Amino acid sequence: MEPNKEKIIKLHVKRTMENLEKNNIGVSYIPSAKDLPALMKKLIPEGSTVASGGSITLAQSGILDLVKNGDYTYIDRADPSLNAQEKHERNLQSFRCDVYLSSANAITERGELYLVDGSNNRVAAVLYGPEKVYIIAGCNKIVSNLEEAANRVKQLAAPANCVRLDKETFCREKGHCVAPSCDDKNLMSVPAGACTKGICSSFLVLGHQLIKERIHVLLVGEDLGY
Ligand code: SF4
Repeated sequence: MEPNKEKIIKLHVKRTMENLEKNNIGVSYIPSAKDLPALMKKLIPEGSTVASGGSITLAQSGILDLVKNGDYTYIDRADPSLNAQEKHERNLQSFRCDVYLSSANAITERGELYLVDGSNNRVAAVLYGPEKVYIIAGCNKIVSNLEEAANRVKQLAAPANCVRLDKETFCREKGHCVAPSCDDKNLMSVPAGACTKGICSSFLVLGHQLIKERIHVLLVGEDLGY
């Protein structure tokens, strides 16, 4: 990375990490994504039951391969052979797993995690159930505040995910949300009925946690996911 830019990004990372810790959210900095699988192998005890939310970051970083092929019981909700009822059962099993893996749509420098979900299984598991939750995210997910977080989803993350998931949405075609901007009174809100086939049903902001370090962020010093 260009050194001047790197210096500024490091300041953003430092501020973000300090505020996550103040919010009882554990955080570690990992300079390169290539080190993630080895680190996860140390962090997740052998024999653990592991589940995950859908995430390009997990796939890109090699973590999904690790938990699918390592000494773990992986609850695979994305197995294409599952019918709707079987998928639902896997989601319910995820709430009782030892370790849940997810990314976040954004992380604010104020120490908040921001996740947007369509079917809600991911935000539900991050909120409650699994003993330990690891949030794996590249530094590209850091934003100043929740308004920036919402705009990041509206203009990049959700449109890209709609392409990935083959969703018939406005943002997939136009590259931004049907309600493209937001303000501090209407953060992610979309006019009722304006997007009925989308992936933005629920908007989760995680601030100060009562259980210290149940949630732990692995912040990677490069771009990952979207
Ligand atoms: S609400 Fe709909 S159009 Fe807007 S970003 Fe989400 S999926 Fe796309």
